[in-house]
Amino acid sequence: MSRFWSPVVGTLSPYVPGEQPKLQNLVKLNTNEHPYGPSPKVLEAIRAACDDTLKLYPDPSSDRLRQAVATAVGVAPARVFVGNGSDEVLAHAFLALLKHERPLRFPDITYSFYPVYCGLYGIDYETLPLTEDFRIDVEDYLPGRHGQAGAIIFPNPNAPTGRALSVAEIERIVAGNPDTVVVVDEAYVDFGAESVIALTERHDNLLVIHTLSKSRSLAGLRVGFAVGSPELIDGLERVKNSFNSYPVDRLASAGAVAALEDVEYFEQTRQAVIQTRGRMTAGLQALGFEVLPSSANFVFVRHPSRDAGELAAGLRERSIIVRHFRLPRIDQFLRITVGTDAQCDLLLKALAEVV
Ligand SMILES: *Cc1c(COP(=O)(O)O)cnc(C)c1O
Repeated sequence: MSRFWSPVVGTLSPYVPGEQPKLQNLVKLNTNEHPYGPSPKVLEAIRAACDDTLKLYPDPSSDRLRQAVATAVGVAPARVFVGNGSDEVLAHAFLALLKHERPLRFPDITYSFYPVYCGLYGIDYETLPLTEDFRIDVEDYLPGRHGQAGAIIFPNPNAPTGRALSVAEIERIVAGNPDTVVVVDEAYVDFGAESVIALTERHDNLLVIHTLSKSRSLAGLRVGFAVGSPELIDGLERVKNSFNSYPVDRLASAGAVAALEDVEYFEQTRQAVIQTRGRMTAGLQALGFEVLPSSANFVFVRHPSRDAGELAAGLRERSIIVRHFRLPRIDQFLRITVGTDAQCDLLLKALAEVV
């Protein structure tokens, strides 16, 4: 606490991101980045945008990028909002759409940024426990069981479990809460779940958020987007224009457009990750690990007899970093990002020693 801080600052519990080590030669499987670099066309587009026009502000409404998103996901540009990483899009959604008299509802085990935004914006929330096998119970999000929610948010696939709901299950939640905003954070959807973007045409209460950080290999560029009814998008725009008029810079916009347009590279690299996830899962199971079924670019695993913290430490001694959350219910799990096949082999070899 400092006497110079606004009072709210002392009450915050900021999000702690996964480590970005300065050391070289680490096998970095801790923050769900894509193991393959972005499309060469992305690098070319960014280089081409590196010119004298950097003296000018970017387009405040990011029309070119919103059009590229709209084309990539098959909706009208008026239904698209873009921001500086999906974390920023999420932050605006929390303030614009998720702060109501009744509490916001989300799972007990989920993206740990959600409670942080609630703290920042003074949003009342309640968490609902995942089932024993770490699934979201759809009934928990229908008004019948716990009454009406102020709003609802969850990732699909969920993080850090990797487990996904079907489109039909999500539509039950969205249709069962027609006067309540439902945000589905699809950060990992391209690795094996089905997107509910198409449902936004039928349900004006549904907002779907995507990032280019994971499946498009652009965590360093900071671009994310949301798709929903013009009414929801307008709410986001009002908050964005009260915060930062130019969240997506010229280079980021150029790179993001190129990434969205290079469908072939996207397909090829996401399929490679899906394939390695299969190998990794089989290898981990052979070492005795329980592996939750993953639709994401990471697996969430526990060993029946070895402590997760000790396993993480053993891996680190072998220059491999994974994510271990010291949180209730999941402190015996490790979240391991799916890397290249070579990284997967190094991981399995190291774990065979440590276990
Ligand atoms: C990685 C992640 C994000 C944030 O992505 P950025 O676009 O890099 O800010 C959002 N939600 C979930 C569930 C994530 O795992």
